[in-house]
Formats: sequence, C-alpha cells, structure tokens
Amino acid sequence: MATRSKLVAGNWKMHGSTAQNRDLLDAIVSRTAWLEKASIAVAVPYPYLWQAQSILANTHVSWGAQNVSQYEKGAYTGEVSAAMLVDFGCRYAIVGHSERRALFGEDSHTVALKFRAAQAAGLTPILCIGETLDQRETGVTEQVVAEQLDAVIELTGVNALSSSVLAYEPVWAIGTGKTATPQQAQDVHAFIRSRIAAHDPAVSAKLRVLYGGSVKASNAAELFCMPDIDGGLIGGASLVADEFVAICNAAKN
Ligand code: PEP
Repeated sequence: MATRSKLVAGNWKMHGSTAQNRDLLDAIVSRTAWLEKASIAVAVPYPYLWQAQSILANTHVSWGAQNVSQYEKGAYTGEVSAAMLVDFGCRYAIVGHSERRALFGEDSHTVALKFRAAQAAGLTPILCIGETLDQRETGVTEQVVAEQLDAVIELTGVNALSSSVLAYEPVWAIGTGKTATPQQAQDVHAFIRSRIAAHDPAVSAKLRVLYGGSVKASNAAELFCMPDIDGGLIGGASLVADEFVAICNAAKN
C-alpha cells in the first residue's frame, strides 16, 4: 500500500489585508516549522500572491491561488493565467471549488479545462468535488462526485491525476459548521479512490484526497486518521492562526 503524506491547505477565500496576512503567515511559519510529515499550503487572493511569495519563499509553507483561467493568455479581461501564478511562485491552484461552481457558473468541463491549464504551466491543481445537501438527501452523492471527477479524467487522462490533489468537499459542510462525520467522509473518499483505481490502481493509491467542510482544531484529528483521508482543505479555520496551526498539528502523523 502506498504511503501518502498529509497535506493541509488553507483557502482564505476573499479575506485578508496586507497587515492581517503578515501576522497570519508569520505565525504559521514559525509555529509549524517543527512539523516534519505534513505539507502545508495557503491559497490566498490574487492581489496577495506577491506577499505570500515574499514571506513564504524559503520556508516549508507553499502557496497558491483559489482559481485560475482556463485560457493561456490573450483578450480575457479580468482573468489570471496559470503562467502568471507560476510567476509569483505558486505551487498550487484550487479548481472547481463549490463556490466557483455555484456562484460563478463553472461547470465540470470548465473546471477540467482549468485543471489542464494549471498543470500545463507546472502547477499542482487541487480539484474540488462534492455534492449539495439536496443531492445527498436524494441519494446521488456518488453520481455527482463521479461526474465531476470523470470530466477531468476524460479531458486529461487518468495519469494527470498523479500530479494533482483532490479535495472532497460536501457543499452542505462548507462554511456551515456542519462537518461530515469521519465515516461519511471516509465512505466518499473510498468511493473516489475506487473509481480512480478502476482506471489505474497505482495512480489511485498515490493520490492525496483531502477532506474539506468545516474542519476545525476540534475535529481534524478524527477526520485525518481515516484511511482514505490525506489531510484537509480548510476555509474559515485557516484564517485563525491557533486553529490552523492545531489542524496542521493533527495532520502530522
Ligand atoms: C472551503 O472553502 O474549501 C472550506 C472547506 O470552507 P470551511 O472550512 O469554512 O467549511
């Protein structure tokens, strides 16, 4: 069985200021330096990528963006290309966050194009997939997650997943304080892994699948000890140094 190191990635969403970011990033760097086994990253708003780069360069903490254009360059007003993210030292780009899907009309094909554009520029995409409450209650969680995943596999081939990270984020758990139970999360993670294994067991065994949805210091350890959960994508709690450091700590084993 492949051993997968854990990753804890903060998604700041549309929060921050240069003063707040400095304090938060300094705290994360200084208070997680001793963690050996977990990788740590923050996805910051575009205007603060320069600041993340200047504070985090040569530290153990990586940084990235929360979105990326599916286009390489050209007349796309307001878009930010993957090459621009690389220019600011990004390692990661989140694609397909449920807020992008629900509020900005990104469908699974667009998300797949973004995934491909990120990888083509050398970034590691963090692909978010997950069902709404209504979909869970009507028993179609697996179909929804499969459709979101298959769109990427169809466009890029399953091998492309080897240099990516997945994040299972049930929409009903994001920003609601309502976390999936460790078993609920594990069940979907195991489903995701088995679906990828049907294409390529080696890719599936190595792929990191994060859980996201109201992860906090108080519930991180019980989620992260499940066999198919390889860390977390953290929204609200990533803005609070004590919480985020404790979550990183929960991922260290
Ligand atoms: C997210 O935005 O990806 C997320 C998981 O948010 P929260 O942790 O606040 O639920």
